[in-house]
Amino acid sequence: MTDFTMKTDADGVAILTWDVAGKSMNVMSLAGFALLSDLVDQALADTAVKGILITSGKRDFAGGMDLNVIAQMQAGGAQVIFNGVMQMHHVLRKIERAGMDPKTKKGGKPIAACLPGTALGIGLELPLACHRIFAADNPKAKIGLPEIMVGIFPGAGGTTRLTRKLGAMMAAPFLLEGKLSSPQAAKAAGLVDEITAPEDLLASAKAWVLSAKDADLIKPWDDKGYKMPGGAPYHPAGFMTFVGANAMIMGKTQGVFPAARALMAAVYEGALVPFDAALKIEARQFTSVLMNPSSTAMIRSLFINKEALDKGANRPDAPDQSVKKLGVLGAGMMGAGIAYVAANAGIEVVLIDNTQEAADKGRAHSEALLDKGMKRGKVTAEKKSDVLARITATTDYAALNGVDLIVEAVFEDPKVKAEVTKKAEGSAPGAIFATNTSTLPITALSQASVRPEDFIGIHFFSPVDKMNLVEIIKGAKTGPRAIVKALDFVRQIRKTPIVVNDARFFYANRCIIPYINEGIRMVAEGVAPALVENAAKLVGMPLGPLQLVDETSIDLGVKIAKATKAAMGTDYPDEAVDHVLFWMADQGRLGRKANAGFYSYSDKGERLDLWEGLAPKYPLDKLQPSLSDVQNRLLFAQALEAVRALEEGVLTDIREGDVGAILGWGFAPWSGGPFSWLDILGADHAVQICRGLVAQFGHRFEAPALLREMAEKGDSFYGRFSGDNRAA
Ligand code: NAD
Repeated sequence: MTDFTMKTDADGVAILTWDVAGKSMNVMSLAGFALLSDLVDQALADTAVKGILITSGKRDFAGGMDLNVIAQMQAGGAQVIFNGVMQMHHVLRKIERAGMDPKTKKGGKPIAACLPGTALGIGLELPLACHRIFAADNPKAKIGLPEIMVGIFPGAGGTTRLTRKLGAMMAAPFLLEGKLSSPQAAKAAGLVDEITAPEDLLASAKAWVLSAKDADLIKPWDDKGYKMPGGAPYHPAGFMTFVGANAMIMGKTQGVFPAARALMAAVYEGALVPFDAALKIEARQFTSVLMNPSSTAMIRSLFINKEALDKGANRPDAPDQSVKKLGVLGAGMMGAGIAYVAANAGIEVVLIDNTQEAADKGRAHSEALLDKGMKRGKVTAEKKSDVLARITATTDYAALNGVDLIVEAVFEDPKVKAEVTKKAEGSAPGAIFATNTSTLPITALSQASVRPEDFIGIHFFSPVDKMNLVEIIKGAKTGPRAIVKALDFVRQIRKTPIVVNDARFFYANRCIIPYINEGIRMVAEGVAPALVENAAKLVGMPLGPLQLVDETSIDLGVKIAKATKAAMGTDYPDEAVDHVLFWMADQGRLGRKANAGFYSYSDKGERLDLWEGLAPKYPLDKLQPSLSDVQNRLLFAQALEAVRALEEGVLTDIREGDVGAILGWGFAPWSGGPFSWLDILGADHAVQICRGLVAQFGHRFEAPALLREMAEKGDSFYGRFSGDNRAA
């Protein structure tokens, strides 16, 4: 174990270097923590050591706690977690007190943290326990506490220390939103104490250590008369902060994220008691969050499995096939977005449309996004011109010569798609051809191709620059070369891929459509639209189904309904939905783009209230359903479809099903995704709920055979489909 090494220099400064072998970024393990503790003990006991620097042997300081370790701690149960966390507090408190006399607070050894680059999670909590934090002026570095993003919160003293250092109000964006800052911004916010040129980092810290006085080592919260910046909860200003913060969090999270609630409790309760008691409260709240199945599921989906997919968990073993030159057909909303993300990742792009004007408009989309980035200080003029220089907008298919991947995003019309497929393949022999269709089967579209083994679906979500999921769809004849190309492309543009088989609506849309339809069906039944929308949000969906269909447009819904009905014939189950949907379209209420849909909109396009005109047409039933009935209908409509997709082999990996659902359409992230949600419920309980739903609302809620079998055997999805047993 050599995660940390220590050397004492001629001036008596011990340099403790964090450098985890075999990893590009330091992460903290339990053994690493124990070693750190031993080395600090040694340095404090060694009379030759005057002070300590804690730094990194890598470009960055640390990426955080090894979340696999957290998973192990969770397996041990609450007491094991609590003891482990208190042990960490003990070590960090030892660093903070640095051997000083507890009464006189004299005689401690100064300890400075030196951050050469990124410092996240425990990578900032450890420095916060040191006496002074030096950060190199490294524009690539990110500093912060992102734990909340994966369903936990800073539990190694970061919550308590940052609140006491900055005050609850100023600490809120870092703790509650996981805001990450550049070193300069971190200095301005008070997260770090000093910024130095990268080459002066250790020298500056050393100079400070050698000149520090006893008083420099006393943390404000260990000093007499400490008052929390901005006021503790019973101070008038503090009172305002805490009341406001609580309301804001409940507004943003609807109370469904246990970590946000526990964090607030740790901050509030911690602020009322002395520092060491506050650490204990933090540890209790942290334990409660780790014991909540939501945090296990969120860490698994949003961190461990997302990372595995990003790294190509389901990529066939083959040499790198990164894209050098990309052709994009159709410079509309999607094509323009795809051109932008590719050019931004350093790929040459040929963007083709029917007219030069349309192609130029597509390129101008990149310019507008880059300008926005410049205004926010995130994009330099040089970067803007580099990215734009990579995009050639043209009508000339001959320009596709030399591209190795083509993504087609023309109109959703099989004839138009067939025509451009032929033209493009003629101009780019050897290129992989991908379609961004959202509804048309890949196998059918590939019939237009002379090389169906090189034909694949790469389905982006709108807006392309913001949405991180990409669904890769294999047609019946798609070969491994096309899959590898698509996966390597998605990795280049830093999005998360899932790979699914060809079937109506693939995976994501297949689950989103029943969600929207269930919401609309309830409107037809006389359920209050506000109840439908609020029930969705209160169970963690980012958009209610009615808002979602307004965003994606009601005429698109009509188009999809007509096509589905044509394909399914008498089996078509959604007449009741169409009643409402078609009527809305007839009223010209096409959704946000028409400034009129299930919601009303101001002239400026701001969403206002639910549209009052619905009530005369679909009067409210006197007897309204319970909140949980509405929520069960909305979540089961999606989750059962996900199970069917697995059962039918459209999905081949539940990790993709869960990560895809959260990134693709925001399926209640607190749950870790539909499969994790069903595991939290338990298959048996889920099947029972389905029985009740079938009795009340119809056969669409019939539990799939797989789920029923799992209920009988007492299986869970993650128990049954992990390791080598991923496929159903
Ligand atoms: P769009 O109407 O905004 O853009 C289509 C573009 O294709 C237009 O600029 C049009 O001029 C161009 N075009 C049409 N025929 C052409 C041809 N023969 N040669 C070259 N260019 C041609 O549509 P969009 O929303 O960008 O959708 C494009 C594709 O992406 C569709 O297949 C759609 O189903 C799919 N998709 C859309 C979304 C979405 O949210 N809009 C999401 C995922 C996938």
